[in-house]
Amino acid sequence: MKTISIIIPAYNEEDVLEQLYEKLTFVIEAIPNYDFELLFINDGSKDRTLEIIKEMRETDHRISYVDLSRNFGKEIGMMAGFDYAKGDAVIIIDADLQDPPELIPEMIKYWEQGYDDVFAKRRSRAGETWMKKWTAKTFYRVLQKITKIPVQENTGDFRLLDRRCIDALRTLRETQRYTKGMFSWIGYHKKEILFDRNPRAAGETKWNYKKLMDLAIEGITSFTTAPLRLSTYFGFTISLCAFIYMIFIIVKTLVVGEMVQGYPSLMTVMLFLGGIQLISLGIIGEYLGKIFTETKRRPLYFVDEYNNEKVMFEKKER
Ligand code: UDP
Ligand code: MG
Repeated sequence: MKTISIIIPAYNEEDVLEQLYEKLTFVIEAIPNYDFELLFINDGSKDRTLEIIKEMRETDHRISYVDLSRNFGKEIGMMAGFDYAKGDAVIIIDADLQDPPELIPEMIKYWEQGYDDVFAKRRSRAGETWMKKWTAKTFYRVLQKITKIPVQENTGDFRLLDRRCIDALRTLRETQRYTKGMFSWIGYHKKEILFDRNPRAAGETKWNYKKLMDLAIEGITSFTTAPLRLSTYFGFTISLCAFIYMIFIIVKTLVVGEMVQGYPSLMTVMLFLGGIQLISLGIIGEYLGKIFTETKRRPLYFVDEYNNEKVMFEKKER
């Protein structure tokens, strides 16, 4: 029998876990001929999340859990899930029931037809503010324009991945992760299914605009070096303008002479150039920082506990 692992990253989700468990088991018990593994990733929750998972595990041995040593963020939590999942396929689902488990049978159906990555695309985003919808939309547009890989718009991490996708993703061990881009980057056969995203069942979103902005910068800088080229273009354009203006000034001085003036234009040019230089420095710094963190080659995460056992640090690539 084939095994399917369902990875559930959970960070302070005490309010929804039981509801999620009920819904999930209801769905998977209606699917015959598969073994299921419910793999919870406790991402350093500060509430009763871990206790609840442990309680559930006592009565249901399809449940396993990885308890990370602190909060590492969802991107890294998912990676821990890939490392520990035993299944022939993996399904990633949010703990807050925003991703409807009812789609799982359909995902499995397409997987059996030979697709490696069956992802759920949102038809609507109920319960999200127009501001969040708008920022998400703009971000996808920009990312699509400047990177060469196709970006899957309105798609979250809710998807089924075949074992070979998991093994591919496990080789991409960069510390600063933009997993959504990686799903596209690895390729393989993709199939989209449409769904309506629900508002959170309970609890609060852990995202805020600062985090979204960081993720956006992460997304851009980990998949393209185009912004670096931007400064080159800026430089060329401005030098060209400056050159033309210089000739104009020389000619003007020779023809009509020069009375001391020009404070406003001098000031504007200085401020403008200063701004551009700072932006360019920032862009370079962004990439330099990435090089810095990646060259340290730190492990992505540490595990405190796996299924009731304390985990010693293993040196082998996890
Ligand atoms: N999550 C996590 N670590 C974090 C933040 C979030 O594992 O540091 C999990 C969270 O428990 C949930 C999923 O990632 O299962 C999505 O988080 P959230 O619902 O806050 O994000 P949103 O749906 O608003 O994008
Ligand atoms: Mg959510």
